[in-house]
Amino acid sequence: MAPDVNDFDPKDPKYLAALSHVRGLLEFIGEDPGREGLQETPARVLAAMQEHFVGYNEDPREHLLKTFEEVEGYDEVVLVSDIDVHSHCEHHLVPFVGKAHVAYIPRGRVVGLSKLARVVEGYAKRLQVQEKLTMQIANAIEEVLEPNGVAVILQCQHFCMCHRGIHKPNAWTTTSKLTGAFLKNPSSRLELFQLIGMNKNGTK
Ligand SMILES: [Zn+2]
Repeated sequence: MAPDVNDFDPKDPKYLAALSHVRGLLEFIGEDPGREGLQETPARVLAAMQEHFVGYNEDPREHLLKTFEEVEGYDEVVLVSDIDVHSHCEHHLVPFVGKAHVAYIPRGRVVGLSKLARVVEGYAKRLQVQEKLTMQIANAIEEVLEPNGVAVILQCQHFCMCHRGIHKPNAWTTTSKLTGAFLKNPSSRLELFQLIGMNKNGTK
């Protein structure tokens, strides 16, 4: 569950320091942290940050430890597409958002489908760069499930690029990591891309 403001120890020196840092940021942009509308803002910001960065409290690999073998030898592509990604760029502390498509080819055992989304979430709720996030998701699946192939494709929009700096609000960044059969077999790769394309067009 998301942490609440009340979850913090109001006497914790780190918490008190962080509150005053947020007040400092408000002053830096020309605001008055003492005005009515902003009095509770530092505490709310810290609660929101706890939620955005809750991934530091977990090892996402643990979601993959429970597997199932009674799948009648299923050894074709398992794809969970269009998983929402909400992360924050570690260079500017602003959001990047988009979709993750996560696929693997099982080798004798499968995981619950929601677990793939949990792995995405566990790594996304940290300070990230999209390239690293892509690799971490793929490596976790590769190392824990030891499947015949892993494919992770991320398509995100970066607020640091859309709404400041170069101001390109329509730019999408795509990153991908393919291993095993997805790398070696053009037919597996083609199947993957077709599956993702079909899902996105709603013509499944
Ligand atoms: Zn950035």
